[in-house]
Amino acid sequence: MSRHIIITGASRGIGAAIAQHFLDLGDTVVALSRSGTAPEGCALSLAVDVANSEALNEAVKTAIAAHGPVNTVVINAGVTRDGLAMRMSDEQWREVLSTDLDGAFYTARATMASMVRAREGSIIFIGSISPFIGVPGQANYAAAKAGLVGLARSLAKEVATRGITVNVVAPGLIDTDMTSDLGAAKDQMSSMIPMGRIGQPSDIAGLVGFLASNHSRYITGAVIAVDGGLSLGL
Ligand code: NDP
Repeated sequence: MSRHIIITGASRGIGAAIAQHFLDLGDTVVALSRSGTAPEGCALSLAVDVANSEALNEAVKTAIAAHGPVNTVVINAGVTRDGLAMRMSDEQWREVLSTDLDGAFYTARATMASMVRAREGSIIFIGSISPFIGVPGQANYAAAKAGLVGLARSLAKEVATRGITVNVVAPGLIDTDMTSDLGAAKDQMSSMIPMGRIGQPSDIAGLVGFLASNHSRYITGAVIAVDGGLSLGL
């Protein structure tokens, strides 16, 4: 049976690969992003800034009105604004925290009621290994992604008896626009990956698909790295 899957940041990169994974399974995919673009085949594609809670609530209402209760939400939208902490501006700090953490909370909150009513569902946050290994220049990003872990684990306990699982997928270095301007640092980082290669967006989509499936109903509050061994399991 076709499930209703909402994915933020589905216009490209990891989010687009996740959307494609569910589309290939015949699911109904609603894609949210700033640009409003999405892989072909998505049932609905809406332009929304996840950091704007009112706009986000409206987008989720539109999705539910069109496609019914949400089975799975993949909270993937994220940005980086790297810089050494001593020189990091307030704007650099706030932009990352408001998109990567505030936006994640708004998305979870907006979609949870539908799952609680149905007494089933999966909430999947796309975190990062950054807070676990520490990355110079990413104090804002690592703080936001660390925040996701506390958010996810608290939500996991709030909704555990309702049949809803809440987990964090923590990618390592993945080949997307986000990492395209790392230059020589990318080669240096990839040489540290035990599996000897940078990850592809499809590497993340596989785990997300599993966490949304009936095969993972007893997994909640977990943080799972997908990083070729870079963090050795966090
Ligand atoms: P990309 O930069 O390729 O894509 C980011 C996506 O997020 C786009 O779809 C973009 O939409 C959307 N987005 C950004 N800001 C907003 C916003 N305010 N409101 C709505 N949508 C927004 O990134 P990745 O695919 O690489 O990253 C996806 C997730 O994976 C992020 O959370 C990232 O932190 C995480 N991650 C990525 C890693 C990597 O190595 N690539 C490593 C670890 C974690 P639009 O195109 O419309 O702007």
